[in-house]
Amino acid sequence: MKSVLISGAGIAGPALAFWLKAAGYEPTIVERAPALRTGGYVIDFWGLGYDLAERMGLIAEINRIGYHVREVRIVNDAGHRVAGFGTAVFSELTAGRFVTLPRSTLSRLLFGKLRDSVETIFADEIVALEQETDCVRVVLEHAGERRFDLLIGADGLHSPVRKLAFGPQSGFEKRLGYAVAAFEASGYRPRDEDVYLMYGEPGRMLGRFTLHDNRTLFLFIFAASAFPDTLEAQKALLRDLYGRGGWECRKVLGELDATDELYFDSVSQIKMQNWSRGRVALVGDAAFCVSLLAGQGSALAMIAAYMLAGELSASQGRYQQAFASYEARLHSYIDAKQRGAERFAGAFAPRTRVGLNFRNLVIKAFAIPGLARLAVGRDIADRIELPEYQWPALDRLAAA
Ligand SMILES: Cc1cc2nc3c(=O)[nH]c(=O)nc-3n(C[C@H](O)[C@H](O)[C@H](O)COP(=O)(O)OP(=O)(O)OC[C@H]3O[C@@H](n4cnc5c(N)ncnc54)[C@H](O)[C@@H]3O)c2cc1C
Repeated sequence: MKSVLISGAGIAGPALAFWLKAAGYEPTIVERAPALRTGGYVIDFWGLGYDLAERMGLIAEINRIGYHVREVRIVNDAGHRVAGFGTAVFSELTAGRFVTLPRSTLSRLLFGKLRDSVETIFADEIVALEQETDCVRVVLEHAGERRFDLLIGADGLHSPVRKLAFGPQSGFEKRLGYAVAAFEASGYRPRDEDVYLMYGEPGRMLGRFTLHDNRTLFLFIFAASAFPDTLEAQKALLRDLYGRGGWECRKVLGELDATDELYFDSVSQIKMQNWSRGRVALVGDAAFCVSLLAGQGSALAMIAAYMLAGELSASQGRYQQAFASYEARLHSYIDAKQRGAERFAGAFAPRTRVGLNFRNLVIKAFAIPGLARLAVGRDIADRIELPEYQWPALDRLAAA
């Protein structure tokens, strides 16, 4: 019981490969994209995800590359500040262990730990799978048939492994009524270093975040019921929704015209009763996407990867027992995170002018000393502990 195929090289996939390798397993990763994905959006990173990155030998590099945001600022049509808050409270509550970085950077750093030790197949994907008594037989579109002891789907919100092993997306996806789009542009002005700017109209918000190397990230979150799947249709929808907006909306749409890399997706959660079936299990967004509204999906993906590898190692080959313990440790914790995200759903892009004003009032109240700590304190703390497992090869991998 040693060979494990992992589908997906985002966050959960490389993290799982790392811990499996540290436990003495032989993971193989298959990733549909021809190379690790770049661009996208930035994530906030703290708590147990941060602790795990430290154990993996990544934290110095994460802090060197990452951003330490000073302020979240909500602006009006004219770009004037109408609300906002300093982010010192996050730093205080986490003892300075809070950083913002591009998701793709985290993915690259995780993968960098495996580059020379884990077989990785890019530009390929599983198109069929069959569970046998002693293995899982998969068919890769290009590489053909392979056999592994176990198969783990770490292939995100639209997980193809979930579809093949558990059934169609519609049986597990809960849409929260919003869509999200993000892209990067070079040379955009103005720049506001370490400030997250947000502009809102009823049912839609636009965020701007200044990146290193003269780049800027734009994030759109808006109420949606239709989700176009071609780049041109997605751009047309954004032009339609933001074309008459104030602040920098039109300028940002000008940048959008020139991009051919747009991240676009539904704001959704994945809810499943079980994360495993036979020799196949899921991890990260594939199993339990909490949505961007939980602000912690990457950390949860890393925590789940750590626990899944740890339980497999502890069970000494009894994979059914390992999968059951993995779910038992994590499921109710994830359920609570999902409920929290659903409660928060209205706040990102309130659908009415009254809702928008109320949201801004609440955010203004964050400036009152102590209140911000009270408001975010409950959600920022991880109410779960990392179990300790045996990792014979950890030191060598962490130092790589
Ligand atoms: C706008 C936004 C903001 C967010 N903010 C935060 C935040 O502040 N903090 C935080 O912690 N999280 C945040 N998240 C959530 C976080 O990005 C995800 O939870 C995290 O990326 C999940 O990791 P994953 O590895 O499970 O999936 P992904 O990162 O989606 O990776 C899945 C991988 O599988 C690959 N794949 C897909 N199909 C196949 C296939 N058929 N075969 C092989 N490979 C395949 C994909 O190419 C990809 O590389 C945010 C998400 C969004 C959308």
